[in-house]
Amino acid sequence: MTTQRTVLVTGGNRGIGFAIAEEFLAQGHRVAVTARSGSGPDGALTVTADVTDSASLDAAFTAVEAELGPVEVVVANAGITRDTLLMRMSDDDFTDVIDTNLTGAFRTVKRASKGMLKARFGRVILISSVVGLLGSAGQVNYSASKSALVGFARSLTRELGGRGITANVVAPGFIETDMTAALPEDQQSAYRASIPAGRFATPQEVARVVTWLAGADAAYISGAVIPVDGGLGMGH
Ligand code: NDP
Repeated sequence: MTTQRTVLVTGGNRGIGFAIAEEFLAQGHRVAVTARSGSGPDGALTVTADVTDSASLDAAFTAVEAELGPVEVVVANAGITRDTLLMRMSDDDFTDVIDTNLTGAFRTVKRASKGMLKARFGRVILISSVVGLLGSAGQVNYSASKSALVGFARSLTRELGGRGITANVVAPGFIETDMTAALPEDQQSAYRASIPAGRFATPQEVARVVTWLAGADAAYISGAVIPVDGGLGMGH
């Protein structure tokens, strides 16, 4: 029988985070999502938090711990893009993306690690992107934030691997969410043509890999980068 865990997903009000929360719920786990607005799927506890603000994250974790118990699985999913070419990229375009995608993951995982260390059990899953390792014109900020998550997970694995904690990276390719819907149609078609699978993925296809990584079958996987990209990034 599957052990039921307490799971926290950042950015769980839509897109990939929402689908991850739904999938954990479907498997019977206790699920909390953070959102700045809106809420997670039915059955999940929604707590307000902004990943750029440690105090709001701390309050969110405290609320989740009171309601669902210590967080055993954390999914750092919240992310933004501010795409533009390097020459046009402002300091804020760069630092805002790093602050949310990378430092936000740091704040989230640092807070989660408290309970995990005490329990000598934890599953840390960082949502990166195929472009973290492949690169992408117009996404110097975003791809830098996403490749940094690999070093993060691998260092965490070396630090905490002996305490029953694993840390892995999931690197999605193009997934049907608001983030990709915002791309111009001709760009979407060009991307589709370059994906060996010939299509974008559904958020559920990412979510099922995340739940698998959190489960007992993946207990000996740590510091890995798992692509969910239809073959787009082969070679990670
Ligand atoms: P969406 O734009 O649909 O959702 C982004 C989520 O992040 C929202 O829940 C949003 O909350 C949350 N978020 C953004 N900034 C903050 C913040 N400061 N504090 C708290 N929450 C925040 O994105 P996706 O679902 O497409 O993406 C989810 C993750 O997957 C991201 O990390 C993204 O980089 C990654 N990814 C997505 C791919 C894709 O093709 N869609 C491909 C590869 C990776 P709010 O509604 O409050 O803004």
